[in-house]
Amino acid sequence: MSRPTKAIIDLQALRHNFELAQSLAPHSSTIPMVKANAYGHGAVEVARALAPIAPAFGVASIEEAIDLRDNGITQPILLLEGIFSSDEVSLAAQNNFWLMVENQPQVEAIISATLARKIKVWLGMDTGMHRLGFQPNEIQAAYDALSNSHNVSDDIVITSHFACADDLDSQATSEQIKNFDLHLPKTNNTLSTSLANSAAILAWPQAHRDWQRPGFMLYGSSPFVQPQENADQLQAVMSFESAVISLRNISAGESVGYTANWTAQRDSTIATVTVGYGDGYPRSAPNGTPVLINGVRCPLVGRVSMDMITVDVTDLPQVAIGDKTVLWGPELPVNEIASACGTIGYELLTRMPARVPRVYS
Ligand SMILES: *Cc1c(COP(=O)(O)O)cnc(C)c1O
Repeated sequence: MSRPTKAIIDLQALRHNFELAQSLAPHSSTIPMVKANAYGHGAVEVARALAPIAPAFGVASIEEAIDLRDNGITQPILLLEGIFSSDEVSLAAQNNFWLMVENQPQVEAIISATLARKIKVWLGMDTGMHRLGFQPNEIQAAYDALSNSHNVSDDIVITSHFACADDLDSQATSEQIKNFDLHLPKTNNTLSTSLANSAAILAWPQAHRDWQRPGFMLYGSSPFVQPQENADQLQAVMSFESAVISLRNISAGESVGYTANWTAQRDSTIATVTVGYGDGYPRSAPNGTPVLINGVRCPLVGRVSMDMITVDVTDLPQVAIGDKTVLWGPELPVNEIASACGTIGYELLTRMPARVPRVYS
């Protein structure tokens, strides 16, 4: 007795993907990235499911970290962009949040704070992505300033992020790794390091260091466009489902939906499904985008509406109101839908709105 549109989240598949990341780099510690509501899957539930096996979590802001704390997550939580204002430093220290440090104002805010306990920092090196981090020749000075501060614990992590690790033919990743290793700060402390995102965990073993930071792969999709043997072992975590709510026969020459952008070439049966761009199904999905009805691929026809889509089910032997519809999931990769829409699976998962109930299984 409710709208059938929902995202079913398979926590067993999530754990499988985490364990795959861990087994590919057995000497690394694996920190799940649960920013942006765990890529749309529900940050609290995902973190709870991984809490028994994950040493820490990664998020994009202190607000996301506090939400996890308020919901019982006790691990350290890494703030991937560090602080946005200096008042966040003491709050981070109190809560055992770890801070990325990406620029001089962040160094100064940490050094000059009055803290009840030391804070663990991850010092970011810009090895070629040119978005965040210190230039390689500035790393030593930033490291020295942090390691000499009473506010900072000794075990500083040096880190960088890849721009092109999903491109298996690109030289950029090897260049970034070389640059990183060349500019690690000199110190008597033991340094630990972190490089790998999902693509690097799956395909760049040279990038496996003390800590790895998988995001997208945990949710079961490949970061690569082509098949890759490790990525092929991932299991999709989200099944985005709805149901047929209306059926009609139309004649050849009649059109369907807003702007009448699809016209039947033959007498056709059209199923209306209660899911639309208000649920995160992309309005940019073109005619022909596959939709699974009763497990069979059928073409989307007509414009995606806010709350509904229309599907050509003429070739389905049997279809009835109430039949199960899958927009993406284990049998229909979100990457395939994304690519039809000119985007990537990351975006479709991450922007899924709160209106779609997440159901955990
Ligand atoms: C989001 C993020 C990741 C995870 O990237 P995926 O491609 O989703 O694995 C890793 N490191 C940093 C710094 C990030 O911001």
